[in-house]
Amino acid sequence: MKEGKIFFYNPCGERPTEMKKIERRWMKYIEDVEVACGVQFPLRNWSVTNIAHTRQRDSFNCGIYCLIFAEKHLTNKLSDLQSITDNELQEMRRSVAEHIMLYEVYLTECCLKCGGQIGNDEFVTCKTCRRPFHFLSFCIEEDLKTLNDSDEFECRLCKIDWGGPQKIKFVLFFKETHA
Ligand SMILES: [Zn+2]
Ligand SMILES: [Zn+2]
Repeated sequence: MKEGKIFFYNPCGERPTEMKKIERRWMKYIEDVEVACGVQFPLRNWSVTNIAHTRQRDSFNCGIYCLIFAEKHLTNKLSDLQSITDNELQEMRRSVAEHIMLYEVYLTECCLKCGGQIGNDEFVTCKTCRRPFHFLSFCIEEDLKTLNDSDEFECRLCKIDWGGPQKIKFVLFFKETHA
């Protein structure tokens, strides 16, 4: 920050025009903040710079590359940036997945509508995805409105086929017919 440097990483490589654009926008942002807050930041020669790094070799790992760049940059392992291996990519992907899965247990025990824990509250289960919803007006009222006496409760996500059994079947069918 004191050197006025902005490090820019693009997994596919950084183009000079892209870097100039970021530089201009950053200067504009600084100006806007100064005006809006009535402050003056110490004058700096801001510049956008990049560091040589391994280029992305596939079409789906851009986010994973960015995480690795950030980790190496912040832990000052800049010399490792040029030797990112497929193993490292896989490890980072696994660690991201593990982090996300940490929350899975909470989600499965929560009401899908309000996000609150079910605990000892009264609840109703969706007939399709089997997930629980509080038996409270906020959580199921809209869905109950369209329910006949003999119908079983089905949540709205399942009604629009967000990714229930039908959708999975369709994806498999699509893959088979387009293979
Ligand atoms: Zn709820
Ligand atoms: Zn459902």
